[in-house]
Amino acid sequence: MDKSKSLDELKTKMRADTTLPLRNVATNLVFGDGNPDSEILFIGEGPGYWEDVKGIPFVGNAGALLNQLLAKIGIQRKDVYITNIIHYRAPENRDPEPSEIKAFGKYLDEIIKIINPKIIITLGRFSMAKFLPGVFISSTHGKEKIVEWEGKPLLVIPMYHPAAALRNTEVKLKLIDDFEKIPKLLQNIKEKGDRIQEDQAQTNSVKQLNLV
Ligand code: URA
Repeated sequence: MDKSKSLDELKTKMRADTTLPLRNVATNLVFGDGNPDSEILFIGEGPGYWEDVKGIPFVGNAGALLNQLLAKIGIQRKDVYITNIIHYRAPENRDPEPSEIKAFGKYLDEIIKIINPKIIITLGRFSMAKFLPGVFISSTHGKEKIVEWEGKPLLVIPMYHPAAALRNTEVKLKLIDDFEKIPKLLQNIKEKGDRIQEDQAQTNSVKQLNLV
């Protein structure tokens, strides 16, 4: 099944899930946005005011900065996929609670499975903690971390949240710096993929030669 269809089905299931926390205080489900075939998946914290109004992640001030950061490295927002750790807005944008993160977690895991990204970039400490519990963002941001995910290695790069960057110039400079590492990482992934394809092609031609 194609990824868009799978995501649509999951979104419908999520909308109908009356057990999800914050459902009764939020306006809209904020599921995800972007290209389901993206090699990069961004995971933020949770919807704010504008996200709640529009039902789309990162459309407020933090979203504007995210778009700028992407543009600066030659990536358009529509080419990546973006979601959050919780999908209904928490009152007054308070931090998500562990029980909320857990409740939305099963849907987020499904989103990750469908997108099947090559890189996950976590924005802020809550999404970072999903993959790297117990670490500090100040010492871990921008570092490539391989975690085991569903029995397979997955590349996770924690970054500061754009909202934190809007409040603190030093954090903003660090975030710009970390974003600048993304094109090289994508290039490495592409080269690795090309190499695997070349090796496979070579193996196939050797097999064919052995047959004649
Ligand atoms: N901050 C987030 O973490 N997610 C959004 O969707 C918007 C702001």
